[in-house]
Order: sequence, then C-alpha cells, then structure tokens
Amino acid sequence: RVVVGTKVDQNHVNWVTAYNMLTGIRFTVSRTNAKMDRALTDADFDAKHKFSFDITGNELTPSAKYDFKFKDYAPWVFRHLRSTFRLDPADYLVSLTSKYILSELGSPGKSGSFFYFSRDYKYIIKTIHHGEHKFLRKILKDYYNHVQENPNTLLSQFYGLHRVKIPYGRKIHFVVMNNLFPPHRDIHRTFDLKGSTIGRDFKEEELEKNPRATLKDLNWLRRDMHLEFGPTKKQAFIEQMQRDVKLLQKLHIMDYSLLIGIHDLEKGNEENLRDKTLQVFQPGGTNADDPAAHMLMRTPSKLENARKAKELRHIIKTQKPVPMDQTSDKMPDELEGINKNNYFYADDGGFRATHEDDRPGEEIYYLGIIDCLTHYSIIKRMEHFFKGLANQESQISAIPPERYGDRFVKFISGVTMTREAAEREKKKEATG
Ligand code: ATP
Ligand code: CA
Ligand code: CA
Repeated sequence: RVVVGTKVDQNHVNWVTAYNMLTGIRFTVSRTNAKMDRALTDADFDAKHKFSFDITGNELTPSAKYDFKFKDYAPWVFRHLRSTFRLDPADYLVSLTSKYILSELGSPGKSGSFFYFSRDYKYIIKTIHHGEHKFLRKILKDYYNHVQENPNTLLSQFYGLHRVKIPYGRKIHFVVMNNLFPPHRDIHRTFDLKGSTIGRDFKEEELEKNPRATLKDLNWLRRDMHLEFGPTKKQAFIEQMQRDVKLLQKLHIMDYSLLIGIHDLEKGNEENLRDKTLQVFQPGGTNADDPAAHMLMRTPSKLENARKAKELRHIIKTQKPVPMDQTSDKMPDELEGINKNNYFYADDGGFRATHEDDRPGEEIYYLGIIDCLTHYSIIKRMEHFFKGLANQESQISAIPPERYGDRFVKFISGVTMTREAAEREKKKEATG
C-alpha cells in the first residue's frame, strides 16, 4: 500500500498542532452530533463556538494533553453537509483519531498551506489563510445550497471549518475535506489542470527524481492526454463541471483547478504489492529517498475496526460524549459508505473511463475541482504586488473570474474525448 506523506508522530514538529486539531474536531463533532437533528436556521451559518482545552479539563471540555483554544464554525451547517455527502458520523470520528496520528504532505503548493491526511486516508485537513477562512464563511450558504441542488458536485466537499491556537501561538484556520484519491489503489499519474499555459509546466527532468509529482497543463498537452469518457459520461461530466464553475464565477472565485489522479487498471496495484513498507513522496520535490521517511504503521484488524465503529455509534445514539482517546482502527480499504451517492465517485471511489459505445475503459479517474477559496480580490492584490516588485508581466495571469471559468470549462471540455475520437481528430489534422 502506497501511502503519501510523512507520518506525524510525537517527534514531528507539527505533532502538537495536529494533535490539538484532531482533539478539537472530535470533541466538537461529537458534541453537535449528540443532539437531536433539526432544520438549519440563518443563524447557523454565522455561528461560532470557542472552547478552552487544558490538561485538567473542566465542566465543558475533557482533559487534553496540551493547553489550547479551539473554535468551531457553523457546526450545524457542517453536520448537515456531512450528512448530505453521506458520511457516517461514527466513521468520521473513528477516522479522525488522535491516537494513530495523520500523515503530513507538507506544503505542496505555493500558498504555504499544510495538508494532513487522516490515518485511513479518507480525509484531508488543509490549513487555510485567514482571508480564505473569512471567505468560506461568507459563501457558506451559497455553497450549501449548491451542494443540496447538486448531489454530484465536483467541488471540494467541506466537512468542517475550525481554528486552533496554542498559548502564544498564532491562530491556525483549517478545513476538513474529502481526499479525492483512494487509499486502496495506486495513482499512476496526477495532473492539476487550470486551462492556462503560463507557468503550467512541471519540468519533465524532475519527473525521474519524483515520479509521483503532480503534472500540469503543458505536461498534459505534451502527452496528448484525454479524459476518455464516452458520450454518456462525457455529457454528465461536462454538465456538472459547468454548473459548478457557474457558482465559482458568481462568487468571484479564481485559481481553482481540476485535480486528476489516474489509475491504470492494466498496471493495477503492483507497487502496492511489491512494497509493503510505506513509500513516501513529497510533491515539493524534497528527497523521496530519505530512509527516515520510510516507516511502517500498525495496521489494525478488521474486527477491531468494526468493534470501534460500533462502540462509537452506540455512544452517539445514547448521546454520551465520545472518549477523547478513542483509537482509530479503520482499515483504508473499507470504502463503504463514502460518496456512494455521487455519480463521479461511484466506480470504486472514482469515475471509470468509457469507450464510444460506453463500454468500460482501461482507467479510473479520481477527480474533482480543488482550491476553490481564492477570491478575485486576493489575486489582484498579489498581482499588484508582483508587478510593483519586478515591473514585469505577472506569472499569475489574473484574468477576471468570468473569463477564468470560461477558459477552464473550455480547456477541460476540449480534452474530454474517447481514444477513438482522438484518433479520428488526429487523422483529420494529418490529412488537412
Ligand atoms: P496553490 O495556491 O499554490 O495552488 P494550495 O496550498 O492552495 O496551493 P492546493 O492547490 O489546494 O494547494 O493543493 C495542492 C496539491 O495538494 C494538489 O495539487 C494535490 O496534489 C493535493 N491536493 C489538494 N487537495 C486535494 C484533495 N482534495 N484530494 C487529494 N489531493 C489534494
Ligand atoms: Ca492550487
Ligand atoms: Ca490556493
């Protein structure tokens, strides 16, 4: 099994932050889920609750390993969102355990955000900037309504928005969202596509050093790649993308991309079988051969997992608080329940290629629209900054959100075609 990232254990610099994040999530989620369900009100979208954790505990919060403050935003909205996305509350808590801590992807983007995977690899915690945090709160109702009307949305699924702060430390905002990539299948190639060519090239020479790097638009075009969907899937995919992008345009969002992980069914899971130890990869191009990065984690038995989940379900039903140090024993290959309702995640967690006659193809695509919390004003400000600094054409190419969205849809639609159709197009070009 190939696991991405570096394990965050007690020796890791971000151990305390990760521990506090998980402890806070588990406390606030079980607190909200213990109550009787009810309809949302307008006030739910603005709600925030602050909790203080310390080593002794108090009447409100249980004792924790460290002193920290935790803020929970719009808990009822996120409870409803998790239910919309068909997350089982008990499974969610089991996944986000604080015992077998997460793995960290470091900071793969330019933004400085950190990414953490839940131990079972189903969820991603992404730290976000204060501006993104404020923006998500502002658009939460639009997002919520969109998701209700679009059960097959390709947009990132947000499951929680929180803030953590240690004494004298800075405030760290973060979201919990879906990991698009499956825990049980190798991803043979990853692309992050925006529909732009400026700065959208991953150096091919680097690929040897870092074979799992995320490639970009120019690498995609150079390889003459396509999203191979036959007529039925193509139509569904493009229509959903258009609906999602329409929302992003309306909210003046920019700089998002389509993340695509490709699993080649012919190659299968050979890497998983060959190497039982964890393979570590860091998209930033850091040394993937670092022996310290290869670590084994204990894999709990299925029986243990089932027992833990059952226990938690019982606790939630009987409305008792969930013990803080509940261990995670969830096996990554148990994908049941996750996103079964979303058309684009229904083929073993992804969306399988099809031929012209809709016969199943050779790849499974794991895809979605990510990084959708950047408001146009932030881009413009950055652009201004860079221009003032170097007095040259910006690398960001800040076209307005309307055009960004149109260009995005045009590019992705343009590369969505079956092998057969691509062949025909090539022949046509050759004969003029
Ligand atoms: P920047 O703003 O510089 O693009 P960022 O810090 O906002 O960077 P993202 O663009 O959100 O980061 O993501 C960076 C990378 O992290 C992606 O290219 C992808 O490899 C991985 N990633 C992000 N979100 C997900 C997700 N939901 N599932 C799987 N992988 C993800
Ligand atoms: Ca991005
Ligand atoms: Ca970003």
